[in-house]
Amino acid sequence: MNTWSGLIDRYRSRLEISQTAEAVTLFEGNTPLLPAPRLGAEIVPGGKLFLKYEGLNPTGSFKDRGMTTAITQAYHEGSRSVICASTGNTAASAAAYAARAGMSCAVLVPDGKIALGKLAGALAYGAHVIAIQGTFDDGLRMVREAAERAPIALVNSVNPARLQGQKTAAWEVTEQLGEVPDWLCLPVGNAGNISAYWLGFTEAGEERPRLLGAQAAGAAPIVTGKVVEQPETKATAIRIGNPARWGQALEALDQSNGHILAVTDDEIFDAYHRLARLEGVFCEPSSATGVAGLIKSVTTGSVDPEGKIFVCVLTGHGLKDPDSAVEGAAPPISISPSVDELLSVLKL
Ligand SMILES: *Cc1c(COP(=O)(O)O)cnc(C)c1O
Repeated sequence: MNTWSGLIDRYRSRLEISQTAEAVTLFEGNTPLLPAPRLGAEIVPGGKLFLKYEGLNPTGSFKDRGMTTAITQAYHEGSRSVICASTGNTAASAAAYAARAGMSCAVLVPDGKIALGKLAGALAYGAHVIAIQGTFDDGLRMVREAAERAPIALVNSVNPARLQGQKTAAWEVTEQLGEVPDWLCLPVGNAGNISAYWLGFTEAGEERPRLLGAQAAGAAPIVTGKVVEQPETKATAIRIGNPARWGQALEALDQSNGHILAVTDDEIFDAYHRLARLEGVFCEPSSATGVAGLIKSVTTGSVDPEGKIFVCVLTGHGLKDPDSAVEGAAPPISISPSVDELLSVLKL
């Protein structure tokens, strides 16, 4: 018996989408909330750390939560083709769900700035991948206008159905933890996810976490209050200079008595390595940004970890960006097929 069927069948009555549409699903959601005691002891002394491992969604990122609802709704409304701009994960997710529904899918990605595993996914699922000589922000402007001028559904997170699916992650966190955490920490790019979590928590009840958002220092418009024309960071999923849900994110941060800060790429990669080496959890660099933000907030004294429960959202899987994993590590040593030589190189 299949007891899990995906977000829509589980939560439909709480989602503002068609109540009768047949779900287009890959059985997304229901991702683990992992205790992280070793990393927690280092970074939140006296507190408890959990990791919401969204990289275990069907296409390897949390984007699948919003895509099941967006594609279900678009198909139900009669669309047979979809389009999005993407830093990579939205493209792979849209491509997969469109394939599942038998729809065509076009994705615009920034030329040369998309991680290999994301491009591989979009191509494998049969999307029409278009590289633009510009940023994600350029792409989003283009697809918004294209969707107005042509009969094609826009599935970026400006589409309200996306947030309907994404907000379910907040409910899962509370169900898994048995209570609402004190802090929810996550990376902020286009700010759809932070908005969706807040929507989920506020719909669920009076108890809410404080939100800790983190942006990459080279792409931190919400932190600085200024659009970034040429965003730069190795955390390509959050390389965004003009977030579509900027205002909504500020509101969520304000209402939750939260906190948003910028972290450098070095701080992001430090968190990325510690997650993998202390907890065996391999996420993509962007996903480690929330953890980096938490580390910095505790170190600088703006967050007191004592007695607190922290949930860090790990938005995407590490295999999405194999280049980042290999680049930062020493290459494997090569030996002849001899046991003596093997024993001489082993570190025991
Ligand atoms: C999309 C994405 C983000 C940013 O989410 P927003 O909703 O754009 O703020 C962060 N990490 C990963 C892995 C993503 O794919």
